[in-house]
Amino acid sequence: SRCATGEDTGVPVAADRVIGGGGFSLIAGPCAVEGGEQLMGLARDLAARGAGLLRGGVYKPRTSPYAFQGLGSDGLTMLRAASAATGLPVVTEVLDAAHVAAVAEQADMLQVGSRNGQNFALLKEVALTGLPVLLKRGFGCTVDEWLHSAEYVLAAGNSGVVLCERGIRTFESATRFTLDISAVPLVKRLSHLPVIVDPSHACGRRDLIIPLAAAAAAAGADGVMVDVHPCGPAALCDGAQALSPAEFGSLVTRVGQVLGRDP
Ligand code: PEP
Repeated sequence: SRCATGEDTGVPVAADRVIGGGGFSLIAGPCAVEGGEQLMGLARDLAARGAGLLRGGVYKPRTSPYAFQGLGSDGLTMLRAASAATGLPVVTEVLDAAHVAAVAEQADMLQVGSRNGQNFALLKEVALTGLPVLLKRGFGCTVDEWLHSAEYVLAAGNSGVVLCERGIRTFESATRFTLDISAVPLVKRLSHLPVIVDPSHACGRRDLIIPLAAAAAAAGADGVMVDVHPCGPAALCDGAQALSPAEFGSLVTRVGQVLGRDP
């Protein structure tokens, strides 16, 4: 298989960023883009605190159809503007094959979410854009199934796959999902692809994000992706897991301590 063990791959994103290949990537931003001014202010703050990429959902896979669904194409314009102002490349989720072309025009990296982890038609469409792909683990998927999903992108001729562990469904209900930290060193053994961790969607609780990010760094992850919001309690999506910008700064410091160098 194409994702099997070999030299660790670095996946280039935009002109001057690489995920994997020895570095540690810090991807941060709101769970959902809520407005242009808010995003711009947040992106500047995150860049100043050491973020390397900007995340932000504009097509949101919400459990309830009555919950905020995202700003759609207006949100893409806001992401592009924040990227232009800060130099941070943008990663955003594609929920539907019908949106792939429009999202690919504005984003630097395409995210396939946990709920689409085995949407093979979507994986093929996303792969064909040639943009790097951030592939979340399906929360009901084994490591083997997750790697086979990665294989769909690789088999379509796109070598830019970054895997993201984001928690799996278990009997434990104290956290939203259960972060499978063992998947990090395991997948690093099974595959040459970079592996990052999203502690925000894994645990759903702000107070656990920094220790879980530290655990990800200690386990050999190639980076973390975290939700940050200027005012978590007021966020339109997943506010309980959003760090403040200052807390993101503390996360950067903590990860640096674990790595023994600046991330
Ligand atoms: C996200 O990162 O915005 C997201 C919805 O994550 P997941 O697909 O892992 O739930």
